[in-house]
Amino acid sequence: MITRRHVLIAATAALGAPPRLWATTTLDLGGARIDTVSDGALVLSPTVLFGQMPQAELHELLARYGESLDRFDPPCNVTLYRDGKHTVLFDAGAGPDFQPSAGKLFEALATLTLGPEDITHVLFTHGHPDHLWGVLDDFDEPVFGHAVHMMGRIEHAFWMDPETVARIDEGRKGYAVGAARRLAALGERLTLLEDGAEVLPGITARLTPGHTPGHMAYALAEPTPALVLGDCLSNHHVAFERPDWPTGSDQDIAAAAATRIRLLAEVADTDLVLIGYHLPAGGLGRAERAPAGGYIFRPLEG
Ligand SMILES: [Zn+2]
Repeated sequence: MITRRHVLIAATAALGAPPRLWATTTLDLGGARIDTVSDGALVLSPTVLFGQMPQAELHELLARYGESLDRFDPPCNVTLYRDGKHTVLFDAGAGPDFQPSAGKLFEALATLTLGPEDITHVLFTHGHPDHLWGVLDDFDEPVFGHAVHMMGRIEHAFWMDPETVARIDEGRKGYAVGAARRLAALGERLTLLEDGAEVLPGITARLTPGHTPGHMAYALAEPTPALVLGDCLSNHHVAFERPDWPTGSDQDIAAAAATRIRLLAEVADTDLVLIGYHLPAGGLGRAERAPAGGYIFRPLEG
């Protein structure tokens, strides 16, 4: 039985600043519990993301969702999983150095009376700034001092390869430098994962390449199946309706499309709960087949 509620909490704002609202979305899994907590939002270039898609069809599609190419500022949902023994974060947020609209994770965790010292595990989906850069504090020390950090072996190798900075396209060079520095700082705190590894009881890593070379999703088994998507499906409109379209934010565009197509075919019209880092409604929902082809993201009812 799934129960879900939205909690809007006014975080204590700095003196003189307007109060900020935090959305926390809770999925009660019986013994275990998931909260998606907001790290804020990103401000991204729609042209970079959607520029390679057929533009007339894209405009029509986005318009049906009330979106346009004027702006794209997706939310960032960090998944928090607690089973009574483990307190697990899926990704670490953007930290203070990426975009001013993101890096708000600790304020959101504080509304749940959690601090970084309470986190036992940080499981990375991939090494992009909005997922990784929150691991170090202003003094370059690991923020989650008591946590085991885990990342896919292929993903780690990609960002730690000195050739990556040289080869990666110009717009992502900062990502590569930033990832290598943070992963090096984590050092032995980091455990590397293979595809299919049971990371913790009831949590399995699943290689889902394309957005980045070693991107991992995480399957949650009990008692309700759920899948922490990371950025496999990074928006609720184009990625679902036209998973085959090329997305500029993907490192390997063809592989990312293949992953979306395979994943959606597998999960659509099942009870599997999807948890997307950049999906709306706290990221929680299910995939349905659309009558006209493609898929629809159905947020869980609030
Ligand atoms: Zn992302």
